[in-house]
Amino acid sequence: MKILLTGGAGYIASHTCIELVKSGHTPIIVDNFYNSQKEAISRVEELCGQSIPFYEIDVCDKEAMSVIFKEHTIDAIIHFAGYKAVGESVAKPLAYYKNNIDSTISVCELMKENGVTKIVFSSSATVYGLAEKVPLKEDMPTGGCTNPYGWTKYMIEQILTDFANANKEMNVVLLRYFNPVGAHESGRIGEDPVGIPNNLMPYICQVAVGKLKQLAIFGDDYPTPDGTGVRDYIHVVDLALGHVAACEFDCKGVEVINLGTGVGYSVLDMVKAFEEANGIKINYTIAPRRPGDIATCYSDATKAKKLLHWEAKHTLVDMCKDSWNWQKNNPKGYNK
Ligand code: UDP
Repeated sequence: MKILLTGGAGYIASHTCIELVKSGHTPIIVDNFYNSQKEAISRVEELCGQSIPFYEIDVCDKEAMSVIFKEHTIDAIIHFAGYKAVGESVAKPLAYYKNNIDSTISVCELMKENGVTKIVFSSSATVYGLAEKVPLKEDMPTGGCTNPYGWTKYMIEQILTDFANANKEMNVVLLRYFNPVGAHESGRIGEDPVGIPNNLMPYICQVAVGKLKQLAIFGDDYPTPDGTGVRDYIHVVDLALGHVAACEFDCKGVEVINLGTGVGYSVLDMVKAFEEANGIKINYTIAPRRPGDIATCYSDATKAKKLLHWEAKHTLVDMCKDSWNWQKNNPKGYNK
């Protein structure tokens, strides 16, 4: 299949690109490099041993985007493009609603005009909001999101559902990601956050490499086994393979699918696993809870296994080793 990846130079998309090529598909990348690096595409090409067509276009610019559809017969779209920083979304809600929703409408209109019926969307476990129980299952209520970023994911799920309801031939897969970590085993591509990382694993890696002094663990008084927050960390290559399976999955209408491992680890588990896997001590301190954080979040991963015949294979040790391998080989990310 010829598959267009919006936001194709990003962390999850770049890994997906490689797995698509390995599975015999032809990826095409569109990205405006707002939050990603051109270098990521060069490295994907190096790892795939082939060139990948790419367009430097803002996905909201429908007219510019239409050129891609003139030049290629697209079979499916994976819509990764979007602003993704939780804290920034609280400070700049309008920018988040505008960019994330406009880009989705642009993609849907282009699909309609060009007869593309398949879309896979990067949603997030954040749409479950303050869920009352775990594991999180796809048919549990959504909403009650704790920040504008989460609400954009929630709204886009609704937009794509309505779009599919009005266009019966549409095939929409909403993938709810849990916590992606790790990197390609080569250490050539990985997560390259702008500024000080918000997420746990990149923060741990930057402490390990000496860029940051100390990890602040946000709260040790949660109702969890050791008091620190519990999440479902998933290796980015497993996540990428989940996208390949979603593209190949032939559903009519809309399917919502969690991509997680089904297992939760606490912040202290993660610190310990990283230390043991890589033989490095992580300096940390206990800090107050971070506003908007929930105690525990992990997936029920059975639906993905049943429908996509997919399940996460990488271990926590793989996640820690691959994250560190990327960080130590690229201490400044893509800007060596
Ligand atoms: N966390 C932490 N210190 C940090 C970053 C994150 O203690 O510097 C904790 C956070 O409170 C949560 C877990 O690590 O319990 C995962 O946070 P992350 O931001 O990576 O993902 P999300 O909150 O989106 O699940």
